[in-house]
Formats: sequence, structure tokens, C-alpha cells
Amino acid sequence: MASDQRTPLIAGNWKMHGALAESRELVASIAAGVAGATGVRVLLCPPYVYLTSVAEWIAGSEIALGAQDLSEQTGTGAYTGEIAGGMLTDVGCSYVIVGHSERRSIYGETDSQVAAKFQAAQSQGLTPILCVGETLEQREAGQTQDVVAGQVQAVLDAAGIEAFAQAVIAYEPVWAIGTGLTATPAQAQEVHALIRGMIAALDGTIAADLSVLYGGSVKGANAGELLAMDDIDGGLVGGASLSADEFLAICRAASS
Ligand code: PEP
Repeated sequence: MASDQRTPLIAGNWKMHGALAESRELVASIAAGVAGATGVRVLLCPPYVYLTSVAEWIAGSEIALGAQDLSEQTGTGAYTGEIAGGMLTDVGCSYVIVGHSERRSIYGETDSQVAAKFQAAQSQGLTPILCVGETLEQREAGQTQDVVAGQVQAVLDAAGIEAFAQAVIAYEPVWAIGTGLTATPAQAQEVHALIRGMIAALDGTIAADLSVLYGGSVKGANAGELLAMDDIDGGLVGGASLSADEFLAICRAASS
């Protein structure tokens, strides 16, 4: 039986989409749709430049605010273009995504950089959502478990098991992100169980309370069967978070 801390978390990752006016409409519709909803936690992760606006639009609601990335540098300094974790808490963020596959593959973020970002987030009071997942080639080569375990282990080595008491992990098979392909519930559950098992081997209580999200073409039509799996505690939602109807359908599937 999942702990209360594992109340389903549905996180919208807008990526680099949305103008201000359409973001406002989207947030208004989502906020209206989730008002009074029970049994689900809702998190929105807009682009950096919209964080302050979204914070204002969701004020007074139960919706949480998160960022899509942060600098591994803590404090302030001469790091042109970077955003520090403290700046994110400053504008109302409580979560931040780290190690998204697009950051790893397009911007070359390494496991150790991801671990540094994870720690930088926590040092500023943010809950990191650590993304892990295998490519199609790795899955086809039978390397899924090794790849995912390696990505989790890199952060465990750097931050220690206690750090996972205040963290979320998102399993996102790279081949399922933005492709319309979704892992079957059984495929996802297998990896989620591996992740929770790694944590449980070090601390059973932390493992029992850890939210492990699934991400990869989640939509209203497939959310229910994924969220029904024992070790899937919510979704990290990209494309479908840009449609209030789809996102709300996922939230409804999570709360039922
Ligand atoms: C994501 O951005 O993390 C993601 C899972 O995207 P999508 O839902 O579009 O596959």
C-alpha cells in the first residue's frame, strides 16, 4: 500500500512552448478544472520567463510551481545565462526537473552534472525531479535496467540515500518522449520496481515514501492504466500539458 506522500503527482513540463497570452488561458483552465480535486497533486513547470506570471495565476490554488532546469552552481556569480536554485525558490518554485533526456542528449549533461544539479536544487530547498530512462537502442540491446540503475546510482553516490527523502524520480523511456509511443504498463512497472528496489535496498522507509513518476506520451486515454500500477505514482507530462482538456483528463485519471 502506497504511503500518503505518494498521492499521485501530475507534473506538466511545457518545454519551450507557449506565449504569455496562451499560457495564461491554459493555466486558468487547468486551475479551474482542478479546483477542489482530491487525491492528486498538480505541478506546472513552464519556461523560466513565465514562472513569475504563472506563480501569480496559481496563487491561492493547490497547484505547485516548478522549473525545467537549474544551474549546478549555487549562489550567485558570473555564469551568463544560468539560473540558480535560489532564484527559483525566490519566484515561488518548489520543484525543479533535473536530467531530462533532452538536457542529457541535446546539451550533453552528464550523470555527474545531473547529480550536481540535484544537490544544488536541494541546497536551495527545491525538490528535484530526477529524470532517468533508456534510449530505444539501449532497450533493444537489453540494457534498460543497467542504464536506469546507473543513472540513479550516480545521484545516490553523490548525494547519498537520505537525499531521496526529499526527491522525486521520473522514469522516462527516451523512445516514448514526444513520440506518441508509450511504455506498456508492465514495461513501466518493471523499471519503476527496479528503481524503488534500489532505494529500498538502502532505506525501506524512504523507498516506501518515494514518488516515482512515469513520463512518455502520457495522455488522458492511457493515464489510468499506467497509474494503476503499484509503483507508478504519477506522470511527468510534456505534450499533453499544453492542452487543458488532456491535462485535466490525466489529473482525473490520477484522482480516481
Ligand atoms: C516530457 O517532456 O518529459 C515528456 C514525457 O513529454 P511527452 O509527454 O510529450 O512524451
